[in-house]
Amino acid sequence: MTKKVVNVEPDVPFHTFTVAQTETHLNVSVVEGLTSEDAAARLLAHGTNELKGSGGIKWYKVLWRQIANPLVIVLLIANILAFATGQFPEGGVILFIIIMNATIGFYQDFSAEQTMEALRNMSSPTSQVIRDESRIVIPNSQVVPGDIMIFEDGDVIGADCRLFEVFNLETDEALLTGESLPVQKNLDVIKKVDETLGDRLNMVFSSTTVVKGRAKGIATGTGMQTQIGKIATTLMNVDTNELTPLQKRLNKMAYFIFFAAVILVIVVFGVHGFRYSNEIAIYAISVAISMIPQGLVAIVTLTMAFGVSRMAKAKAIVRRLSSLESLGAVTNICSDKTGTLTQSKMVAVRMWFPSDGFYRVTGTGFIPEGEIFCQGEAIDGELHAPEEQVVAATGSDQFLRAIQAASLCNMAELRRNHHPETHGEWAAIGDPTEIALQVLAYKAGLGKPGLIEAGFELIAEFPFDSSVKRMSVLYRCPTTNNGPSEHLIFTKGATERIIGHCNYYRENDVEVCVKDEKGDDRAAFEAMITQKVDALAEEGLRVLSLSYRKYHPVSGVDLVHGLDRAEVESDLVFLGLVGIYDPPRAESLPAVQKCYEAGIRVHMLTGDHPSTAAAIAKEVAIIPMDTNVKNSSMVMSAETFDSMSDEDIDKLEELPRVVARCSPNTKVKMIAALHRRNLFVAMTGDGVNDSPSLKAANVGIAMGQSGSDVAKQAADIVLTDDNFATIVMAIGEGRRMFANIQKFVQHLMSGNIATILVLVVALAVKDKQGDSVFPLSAASILFMNLCYSSPPAIGLGLEPASETNMKEPPRTSKQGLFSFEVLLDMFVYGFVMAAFTFGSFMIVLFGFEDAQLGYKCNATYSDICDGVYRARATCYATLTLLILSHGITCRSIRDPCWTWKSLKTVKHNKTLWLSIVLGALVLIPVIYVPGLNRNVFKHLGISYEWGIVFAALVLWIAFVEMYKLIKRKTMS
Ligand code: ADP
Ligand code: MG
Repeated sequence: MTKKVVNVEPDVPFHTFTVAQTETHLNVSVVEGLTSEDAAARLLAHGTNELKGSGGIKWYKVLWRQIANPLVIVLLIANILAFATGQFPEGGVILFIIIMNATIGFYQDFSAEQTMEALRNMSSPTSQVIRDESRIVIPNSQVVPGDIMIFEDGDVIGADCRLFEVFNLETDEALLTGESLPVQKNLDVIKKVDETLGDRLNMVFSSTTVVKGRAKGIATGTGMQTQIGKIATTLMNVDTNELTPLQKRLNKMAYFIFFAAVILVIVVFGVHGFRYSNEIAIYAISVAISMIPQGLVAIVTLTMAFGVSRMAKAKAIVRRLSSLESLGAVTNICSDKTGTLTQSKMVAVRMWFPSDGFYRVTGTGFIPEGEIFCQGEAIDGELHAPEEQVVAATGSDQFLRAIQAASLCNMAELRRNHHPETHGEWAAIGDPTEIALQVLAYKAGLGKPGLIEAGFELIAEFPFDSSVKRMSVLYRCPTTNNGPSEHLIFTKGATERIIGHCNYYRENDVEVCVKDEKGDDRAAFEAMITQKVDALAEEGLRVLSLSYRKYHPVSGVDLVHGLDRAEVESDLVFLGLVGIYDPPRAESLPAVQKCYEAGIRVHMLTGDHPSTAAAIAKEVAIIPMDTNVKNSSMVMSAETFDSMSDEDIDKLEELPRVVARCSPNTKVKMIAALHRRNLFVAMTGDGVNDSPSLKAANVGIAMGQSGSDVAKQAADIVLTDDNFATIVMAIGEGRRMFANIQKFVQHLMSGNIATILVLVVALAVKDKQGDSVFPLSAASILFMNLCYSSPPAIGLGLEPASETNMKEPPRTSKQGLFSFEVLLDMFVYGFVMAAFTFGSFMIVLFGFEDAQLGYKCNATYSDICDGVYRARATCYATLTLLILSHGITCRSIRDPCWTWKSLKTVKHNKTLWLSIVLGALVLIPVIYVPGLNRNVFKHLGISYEWGIVFAALVLWIAFVEMYKLIKRKTMS
C-alpha cells in the first residue's frame, strides 16, 4: 500500500484547530468521509481502536487456576507421600491424575473463556461513521483517525473527536473528568493550548456518553491514543468474569465437602486405631478426594458457556452469566411493543385534516412510491365523494403545511443506494416512526432534501424523548420577494402531548382560534380530535399529531441555544393526524402462546395510545380478542398506573397486561409491583432512560438494533434481532440449562455418596490380623473419580430440552438447585448403588471364595490374596457400571429412562453416549492388563464374577424405574 497514512499527533492539540484545519490535517472531508481503502490502510497503521491490556485470555492464568486449587494440593501431598514411601504405582497414578485433571480442566476452562471472550466482543459497542460517502455502522474497534463519526443520545462515544456539527449535544464525562453534570458542547475554536479536558468543548472523548442531542465529529484519536487510553488501561467492565450465584453456592458446597472429607480421613485412621501406615494414609486421602465433586464448578461453567454460545447463534447475547440462572425462573415478561412485538417497518397509511377529512396512503415499506387519496368527511362530518388523488401541487393548504411538518420535523434519511448490486434499492436510516413520515412526504413530493434545497434551514431542534413524547424543530424558511426571513416551528408527537399546546387549528387557509379554558370550544375541539384519534388507533395505528406556528425571533436571543422548549412548544396551530401502521411480527403470536403454555405472563409496555396498544395486543393474543378496552382492567394507561399507590396496585387481582403511554418510570414502577408479588421479571428496553428498569429487572434485555449503547450496557442480555420470540427462546434455553445442571449435579453427587458409603462401610471388613480389607485400591478410587464422574456429567449438561421444557410452569425462585426431591434422590440413589456394589464385593469375598480373606492384601499380592483381589475387581466393575448407567437415569428426574423409546434418543447426545460406552470399555484394560491390574489397581482379572456385576446392574435399573414410578404416583 503506497497511500500516505496521516500523522495523527499534531504539534498542538486538536481543540485549537478549526474544522477545516482538522480536515486537512487528517486528510478527510467531512462530507465524504474516508474511502474504505484509506480506512483499511489507517487501521493497519494505527491499530484497532481498543484499549490494550483489557480483555484477551491469558493461557497461563487459566493454567494456574487448574493448579492452584485445594484438590490439586491434596493430590500433590499424596503424590509426594507415595513416592517418598516407595509406593511407586500409586504415586504414578496420582501423578497421572494430576496431569489429566489439569489438562481437562485447562481445556474446559479455556474453551469456556474463549466462548465468553468472543461474546464480549460481539456485544461491544458499535459506531456510526461516514465512509465512501455513506453512513454505516461498524464495530467500534474498526474506527480509525479521520473517520467521520455520528452520535445520537445514548451512544457511547467510540473515539476522541473534534466536533463539526452539534445539536444540543450534552455528554457525560464523569468517567474522564469526574464532573458529574453533563457538559454542553459547541464548535468554537479554543485558543488555549493546555485547556483542561473538561473545557475542551469542541471535542468529545472516547468512552463518554451522549446524554442529549446529536453531533458529528472527526475522529482524532483511537485506541491508546485517546484521553481514556492515556489515563487507564483497565477500565473495561469485567462483568462476564464474575461468578454467578450458582457457581458461588457450588464452590461453597465443594469446600464444605472438602471439610467433611477431612473428617472422613480421621475416621479412616480412627478405625485403624490411629496407627500410621503409608497405605492407610494414601487410602484416606483417596477417600477424601473421591468425595470432592471437583468437576462440578468446571462443568457448570462449561455448560453455561455452551448455552451462551447456542443463545448467541439464536440472536440473544448474554452479557452477564448470572442472568442465565434467573432466565429459567422468569414468570413475567414485560415487553416493548414497537420493534419487539411488531416489525418496526412502519408505514403511514392514513391521515386526517380538519377541513379535508380522511386520507388514505398506498405503498409498502421504505419505498417512497405510492399514492395519496382524499376520502373526505370533513370536520363538520360532511362526506366528500368520490375519493380523489392528491399530490403536492393539488393538495389543500393544510395538507401542504402538514406534509412540510412531517418532512422537516424529522431526522430520518432516505437514500437510494447506487451500488450496482442492489439496483438502486431504497435504504432508510433513523427512527422508524420518522422514516414512515419521511416516506409519506416523498410520496407527496415534499421529501426533506427537496425542501432543504428550496431554502429551508434547520436552526434548532428539541429532540424526541419517550417521556415528553413529542419533538420540535425551528426552521428558517426560504424568503419570497426579498422580504425579511421568516421562521417556522414544527412540532409533532402524541396527540395528548400536542393538542393542549394548540390554540388554533387550520381550516383551509384560515387559522381558527380554539378558545381558552373558559370557552367550551376547546373542550369540543379536543373531543372531536380525540374521536378521530380513537377511530384511527382502533385500527392498530400509531397516531401522531402535526402542528406548526410562525416564530418571530426576539432580538438578543440565541436561536440555536437560547430558546426555552416550553416557550417554543406553545401557542401552536393544529394541522392534522397521521396514522402509521406497524404490523406485528409473524413470530410474536406463537411466541406469546408458548409463554402461556410455559406459565409465563406477558405484559406489553408501550408509549403508544391505549387503543393502538390494545389493537396490537389483541393481534398477538396478549389480551383476548373480545376485551373491551374502555372498561377492562387489562389495559391501563400509564397515567392511571402511575397515579395509583403501591397499596392500590397490590390490591389489583392481576397487574395490567397492557400499559399504554408508558414512560421509563412506569417501567420501574411495574417491576417493583411485580417484585412485591414475588414474581421474576424479564424487562426489555432500548432508550437511554430505560437503564433503571433494565437494572431493576431480574433479567434486563436490551435491543441490539434499536437500543442505545447505554441500555445495552445496563442489560443482562442483548437481542441482536430485537425480536420478542428470541426472548422466549432464551427463557427456554435458561430452563434447559438449569434442568441439565440439576441432572449432572444429581449424577455426580449420588455417585460420590455411593463411593464414599462403600469405602467407609467396608472398613468394617477385617482380615485375619484385624486390618480392614480395602474394597477398592487407592489408585482405583482416584482413577474412577477421574473417568466416570465428569464425562457423563458433561454429557448431561448437553442434553437437549425435554418435551415438557416449555410446557410446565416456571420453577419458583426460592426453589434452588437442591429441591427436596433432588436431595432425596441423591441419597436414595447413593445408598442403593452403594448397597449393590458392597453386596457384590461381599458375595465374591464370602459367597464363593469361602472367606478367603488372607491378610496384608491391601498393598501387595500373594496367593492368599486371590479372593480379595477378585472381589475388588468385581466391586470396581459394579460401581463403574452403576455410575455410568446412572448417567442415563439422570436424564429425567421422574420420567422412565430405561425404556426403548427413551434409550433411542440417547444417541442424539453423542457426548453422553460416548462417555458411557468408552467408560465401560476402559474397564477391560484396567481389569485384564497383567501387571496394571495386580500392581497398580490391586485387583485381578475376573470371569464368572461378571454374572454378579450384571445381575447388580439389572437389579439397579429395575430399582431405578420402580423408584421413579413410585415418585410419579405419589409426588405432586
Ligand atoms: P414505544 O414504546 O412503542 O417505542 P415511544 O415511547 O417510542 O413508544 O413513542 C410513544 C409515542 O410518542 C408514540 O405513540 C408517538 O405518538 C410519539 N412518537 C414516537 N416517535 C416520535 C418521534 N420521533 N417524534 C415525535 N413523536 C414521536
Ligand atoms: Mg420507540
